[in-house]
Amino acid sequence: MMMRMMADLGWLRVSGVLGFLLLALAPAQAHLYGPDDLVVSLADGAHSVLLNSSSAWFAQFYASWCGHCQSFKPTFQALARDIKDWRPAVYLAVLDCGNEDNTLVCREFDVQGFPTMKFFHSNTKEKSEAVRSQSRDPGSIKKFIIDKLEASKDSPPPACPPLEPISTPEVEQFFQNNDETYLVLIFELPEMYTAREVALDMVQYDGVSVRRVLNIQEDLVTKFNVSSFPSGFLLSRDGSISTIGVEEVSREAYTRFIRSLPGVKKLNLNLIGWKGVEEKNVTLRPANSSKIYMADLESSIHYSLRVEVVRYSTLEGERLKALCGYINVLAKYFPARPMLRNLLHTLNDWLGKQKGDTIMYEDFSDVLNNTYKVKDAVLSPHVNYIWCQGSKAKYRGFPCTVWTLFHLLTVQAFELRAADSEPQEVLQAMREYIRYFFGCRYCAVEFEKMASESMNFVRDHDDAIRWLWSSHNRVNKRLAGNNEEDPEFPKIQWPSKDLCPKCRKKLLNKEIWDGPNVLRFLKQRFSESNISFEYLEDEKKMLKKLREETSTNTVREKRETKDLKEEQDTAGRNYNIVPPNMVPPGKAEEEGNDDSLPTTKAKQILRHRPTIIKMKSNTALQKDGEEKILDLDAYENHYFQGRTLQDSNSKLHKRALHPKTLLDPSDAEFNEEAVRERLLKRGIDTKYLLGVIVKEGDSNWKGRWVKMLEVGFSRLDISLCIILYFLTSMGLLAMYLYLNVRSRFFRQRCRCPQP
Ligand code: FAD
Repeated sequence: MMMRMMADLGWLRVSGVLGFLLLALAPAQAHLYGPDDLVVSLADGAHSVLLNSSSAWFAQFYASWCGHCQSFKPTFQALARDIKDWRPAVYLAVLDCGNEDNTLVCREFDVQGFPTMKFFHSNTKEKSEAVRSQSRDPGSIKKFIIDKLEASKDSPPPACPPLEPISTPEVEQFFQNNDETYLVLIFELPEMYTAREVALDMVQYDGVSVRRVLNIQEDLVTKFNVSSFPSGFLLSRDGSISTIGVEEVSREAYTRFIRSLPGVKKLNLNLIGWKGVEEKNVTLRPANSSKIYMADLESSIHYSLRVEVVRYSTLEGERLKALCGYINVLAKYFPARPMLRNLLHTLNDWLGKQKGDTIMYEDFSDVLNNTYKVKDAVLSPHVNYIWCQGSKAKYRGFPCTVWTLFHLLTVQAFELRAADSEPQEVLQAMREYIRYFFGCRYCAVEFEKMASESMNFVRDHDDAIRWLWSSHNRVNKRLAGNNEEDPEFPKIQWPSKDLCPKCRKKLLNKEIWDGPNVLRFLKQRFSESNISFEYLEDEKKMLKKLREETSTNTVREKRETKDLKEEQDTAGRNYNIVPPNMVPPGKAEEEGNDDSLPTTKAKQILRHRPTIIKMKSNTALQKDGEEKILDLDAYENHYFQGRTLQDSNSKLHKRALHPKTLLDPSDAEFNEEAVRERLLKRGIDTKYLLGVIVKEGDSNWKGRWVKMLEVGFSRLDISLCIILYFLTSMGLLAMYLYLNVRSRFFRQRCRCPQP
């Protein structure tokens, strides 16, 4: 609270001293669970633990930043305590999918929302064999686990006792066939779980077997004269049979009684314990509450695209549309640093070029990671939270950056007010992103409810800014006071009085929001000029690092080589192929950006059928001796890409760099060289045309005129036109003269007197 007050007063979030103290306390990686929780961490290798195991596993995949996972934690901890004695028949395990290191493992286990819980039978061979559990309360999870254990009759975990009802012959011959000193029979109704729970409670004990008898097993019910359920009977090896008299008939009472029997002893089992990852300390960096941080915004984009979207190896249908919408508003409105801006435009353009309804994340990630070495395009390779950093690593982080990013985008959309910008554009993109990608599924459901109630009433950009602000406050209200709230950053109706004294006013002694002032405040707060660029890594360095990382990705390289080979086999020859939108191999380096960057990516994968034409003249894309074949799509993309990069390198203001301006094809067609080239390709002499091409500085109107001409009238065409025109005129004149003479002649004949 103290910190929030300091923050809202516009002070630095923490003083240097306080920051230093927190530095020693705050963990870098959020772990909701630890060694005391009686669960196994899967961070060291989920595959080796969950697959081919002699135990069954109930695993929870969570994200430490997800509020609902945090609220679920006490339930899971309680469950772990409750069934700790069922080990090694069944273990509980956890994996933090919010931690980027675990992203791919989580994807492999088909985890798309949090928390996801899955049951793995003993000896599970394939991840797909796991069974998902929708239960959220410990009672139903326990029942779910028991049902699954019982269902795995064919290959039960060796440590698991028989859970199915015992038959009469089994009871009669029990002591002949077993070494146990006791047999406990618990009679119960089919819907009861007591007998099976007690049986599992005795997994770590020797000398006794606990079995279930159902009320419908008449012969046993009659033999033991059972009239109430559940009822327990103790059968001893010496032949004695007695009722288990417990004060209150319950699992705990039965278990306590059985464990106290003479000769029943606990085994010394070697159980799998917590093999957690060590928590590292973090630096809590001073942040100014009146600013928003580019580092937070870039972290949001990084995390959403590299951790959230990656959960879907195939992107299709509505989900693909959601991704396109998200990238599109980022490309349009996000006031990014130059290299990220390039990357966003490249991604946007690439997505726009994809034909069909499906893309593979791997292909998307190639563009995202700039595998094709587009010049000067990079997204930060890790998160770097500043204002959104919590007082502990499990707090705040990603969801805080998501809110901040979309607030910013609503204000940027207002500021740019592009001609094609719909007032709801950003909100709809956010809605779809949250719906299809946001890992906290409960949050997504709640957000969708709000959106479906009122988003349609948004009529202009101001409405959009206000809608998001008030929806965020509704969430704040719902979450205020929760256990999952960062105690240093309690949820308030935002902005606080200190942050914006004019945002509230009094009406009939009641404090209410002052609408116009709130709007003014939001527009100022989420304006481009209020973004702090502190704590950011240099983009060039990031690009270099990323390239070093991707160049060591040997597995992928191998796959690419294989793909390329297959492609060559099918095509029968080796084209110089460039994927859509990409600078050809080595081209970026040729353009002299950074000599130290690796230039070894010898080829690119063909993912679309190129439009192939034979070239007549030497172009930049041709190398000596190579067959003169060019992929037109790639060339076109290369051309636009080149313009994007060229423009972004200049010091123009963002508005001048608006994607519409950057990528406007009509603009591109004024390029004299491009026009000449196109005409040459069609075998048309361009001398005549070049005479009328409008040079830079002429009006757009003239430009468009040239664009029409540029469709291709050669000198011959025009000469033929003139000749045709001349001949037609001559013909018409001759006809006119002939008819005129003829009519005069007839008129004279008519005037002659009749003989
Ligand atoms: P956040 O609420 O994340 O806010 C981040 C920053 O934005 C604040 O520090 C403040 O500077 C500013 N801010 C605060 N309020 C406003 C406002 N009204 N307008 C503009 N700026 C503001 N968690 C759950 O447990 N349950 C949910 O149902 C849930 N739904 C969510 C829905 C969405 C779409 C998102 C993005 C997150 C959701 N979360 C939910 C997470 C939750 O809202 C917080 O993001 C998370 O608890 C981190 O809180 P925080 O303290 O960083 O502040």
